[in-house]
Amino acid sequence: MYDPISTRYTFSCPTRGEARVRLHDFRELDRLPGAAHPAVFRVRYVCSCGDDHVGLVSHDDLDWAPLGLRSGVFLNLMTDRLEPVRDEFGDLAARRIGAGEWPWSFFCYPEEQPRPVFPSSFSLLAPGDGSLGLAVRCPVCGRLSVNLVSHAHVDLPFHNDREIGVVEHVFSDDLLDTIATFRAELWSSSFDARRLEL
Ligand SMILES: [Zn+2]
Ligand SMILES: [Zn+2]
Repeated sequence: MYDPISTRYTFSCPTRGEARVRLHDFRELDRLPGAAHPAVFRVRYVCSCGDDHVGLVSHDDLDWAPLGLRSGVFLNLMTDRLEPVRDEFGDLAARRIGAGEWPWSFFCYPEEQPRPVFPSSFSLLAPGDGSLGLAVRCPVCGRLSVNLVSHAHVDLPFHNDREIGVVEHVFSDDLLDTIATFRAELWSSSFDARRLEL
């Protein structure tokens, strides 16, 4: 499902058979009601065939697989190889997080501060001008913020843009309920630069 070497998710494509996409190719993420353990997300993504498709991603694949955590093997960040899970590996991501490094972060506009986050809190993504408009539902206050970030900021864990764009506007849920309204809202907004140091 997720390959930590290529940092791509594999889905099926009705035209090409297989679609291999990065996180920044995702457009909409919705947590499916009901399935709690593990939670499952419905994802709309852009495929290299030119169409959008919909696929399902487990919570583990969304938040933990990019950190090299999956059943049986893990990505050794020192050697870039997949190796069998050892007990101490569970500590690695935790150590970096404990040292103040977060795999992903965003700027919560309603709270006016940077927050750590996981991809399961991403709601909508829209590309433009080489950057990416990212709507995030804050895991702390529950409100939506829109940031302008690089592709690497979402694709690569522990790669956080030092400075990002923030829409100075509190979004209501219905404004951001589809990718079309998000796009229109996003590119008619002005962005203000914020630093992401947590
Ligand atoms: Zn396709
Ligand atoms: Zn918040």
